[in-house]
Amino acid sequence: MTTPITEIQEPLAYKRILLKVSGEVLMGDQGFGIDMNTVKAVAEEVAAVARLGVELCLVIGGGNIFRGLSKAAGDMERSSADYMGMLATVMNALAMQNALERQGIDTRVQSAIQMNAVCEPFVRRRAIRHLEKGRVVIFAAGTGAPYFTTDTAAALRAAEMNCDALFKGTSVDGVYTADPKKDATAERYDNLSYLEVLSRDLRVMDASAVSLMRENTIPIVVFSIRTPGALNEVIHGRGTYTVITQ
Ligand code: UDP
Repeated sequence: MTTPITEIQEPLAYKRILLKVSGEVLMGDQGFGIDMNTVKAVAEEVAAVARLGVELCLVIGGGNIFRGLSKAAGDMERSSADYMGMLATVMNALAMQNALERQGIDTRVQSAIQMNAVCEPFVRRRAIRHLEKGRVVIFAAGTGAPYFTTDTAAALRAAEMNCDALFKGTSVDGVYTADPKKDATAERYDNLSYLEVLSRDLRVMDASAVSLMRENTIPIVVFSIRTPGALNEVIHGRGTYTVITQ
């Protein structure tokens, strides 16, 4: 009889995280809209980490479909345009929910704007219960208020849900001195303080999101969501990323 090999679980650097994925990540190389192959790839990354027992909240942006402050919005009234942006995040959330469930991961979508036929409303205590039961909770419709962004929504939910860190999944592996896609001499920071990000105007996240994380001393971890396995590495405190702390 063969002895079953028990998988040795490595210690996790973070137990409960909120992962913010911008809408732009989901459009892949299309330039607009939702690229289902990219959604699937991101879902695989998330699923791998959820299977380790990490409690995961997701906030997905909507910039791949609509932004309140954009050319597409023309001279629309700002609040209405922002509501359209929030609705765009719900579409992305449903696409991500579907992709995660195909990976066998239980999920719930909670929206800051009630739409009962589509998903649950945001109820903090209920969201916590979902996490405890091993479900991935996807927060949709941002903060539910215009004049905000999903970065701020991510920071708000990370604080409300008592997350150990706010993970920002981008297309590069951290915060650089300049845009690494345009400037070959750009260097990546390993660590930054909240104040350095704000004073150097590094634009990794909105200033309001960074401030909220600073007030609540929740680290912001910036990493590449487009690199297979990167999320898993960072969750264990390895790999390439920038961490923003006090
Ligand atoms: N939005 C909003 N309030 C929020 C979150 C989002 O009004 O709390 C709107 C806003 O118009 C924004 C759009 O939704 O431009 C899409 O969100 P965001 O630009 O943050 O998406 P991302 O850049 O992450 O794809």
